[in-house]
Amino acid sequence: MDRRFMPPFQTKEELAAFQLAGLQWTVRHAWEGSPFYRSRFEKAGVTPESIRSLDDLKRLPFVTAQDLQANYPWPLLAVPMDRIVRMHASSGTTGKRKVMVYTAKDIDDWADMFARCYETAELTREDRVQICVGYGVWTAGVGFQLGCERFGALAIPAGPGNIDMQLQFLVDFGTTVLCCTASMALLLAEEIGKRGLREKIHVKKVIFGAERSSDALRNQVKNLIGAEQIFDIPGLTELYGPGTGLDCPFHTGIHYWADYYILEILSPDTLEPVPEGEVGEMVYTTLRKEGAPLIRYRSRDLTRLVPGECPCGSIFPRHDRIVGRSDDMFIVRGVNIYPSHIDEILSRQSGIASEYQIHLDHHGDGKDYMMIKVEREEGGRPGDDKILAARIERAIRKETLVSGTVEIVDYQGLPRTERKAKRVFDHRT
Ligand code: ZN
Repeated sequence: MDRRFMPPFQTKEELAAFQLAGLQWTVRHAWEGSPFYRSRFEKAGVTPESIRSLDDLKRLPFVTAQDLQANYPWPLLAVPMDRIVRMHASSGTTGKRKVMVYTAKDIDDWADMFARCYETAELTREDRVQICVGYGVWTAGVGFQLGCERFGALAIPAGPGNIDMQLQFLVDFGTTVLCCTASMALLLAEEIGKRGLREKIHVKKVIFGAERSSDALRNQVKNLIGAEQIFDIPGLTELYGPGTGLDCPFHTGIHYWADYYILEILSPDTLEPVPEGEVGEMVYTTLRKEGAPLIRYRSRDLTRLVPGECPCGSIFPRHDRIVGRSDDMFIVRGVNIYPSHIDEILSRQSGIASEYQIHLDHHGDGKDYMMIKVEREEGGRPGDDKILAARIERAIRKETLVSGTVEIVDYQGLPRTERKAKRVFDHRT
């Protein structure tokens, strides 16, 4: 395998030594360049000199999304403004957007990291990469593009939407790699099926960004498009953007680029590390970021570390797909439920398609009611709906300890979107 974008070192010890040097550099850089960080460090009683081992990371205070918002528009800025060459912002549905700034070196590092993702997915420079994610102030399109050009494959900057144009590009330009959200992939895959284009499409790999996706949806996309592999790319604006890790062809978890950042998985309640393999909040510390370094940034994203070694032999540790956000969780009759858990239960059921919606209601009596709408599989018989619904209701009650009702709707009866699909509808307020 080509290793142009892999680090020079080969062992976990070398990686740890590199991380320590990066952590020491980052703390000093933040101390000297950012009044925000310096005052936090002073309050916590830490100085750059007090970071002597990786273990000293836990002495550093946390940074939260509220800190970013309170210091809007240039939070965490740690270099003079004339060294900043670009800004990006999160879509920011609540409150102010999270704005991040980049020096020329930050952009360069991001390109290298993203090129490493394409290398990990075993692309070649012959590949033609259709990028169907949003271009603009957010990091998605620009990130995929930057990495593709650094890697040396052909970038087709299609942007999101416009299904007719996407299909035409897939056929005319001989696209071999498709980068999009899982919802967009499903939309395209179904259109390819409907229009009988499968024979004219040469997509071998699909890279999913920015959205959780169930195994059911992945298999459906794979079959309809005829792709061989689907990869997951994590992407957090605060941490450069997409491209900070990728699953390898063994698909045992996402290898994350630990020579650029340290990932802690902590309990959102105690802020102590969870036991290995258990789900917790992803907390990031960057090791080389100049413009807006992250030091113990609480992302609210939840996942677990994958224990053991990957058969590919990579020294890079793995985290699982993101299972949700600590603030996505909803409570039904006193039980905490993550949408990803419902997703997982549905994925194991036969007779249904991959789309679903969760509706929460009070029905006037103040009690919580959960109703789940699921699509019948393509070609399924409406006469079997009752039995099917009852089977899924049992599975949900057994696994979540909450009763809910299941309503089966027609195949493609739920809306398709090229953006992140909204799946939880809380009508209780
Ligand atoms: Zn691997």
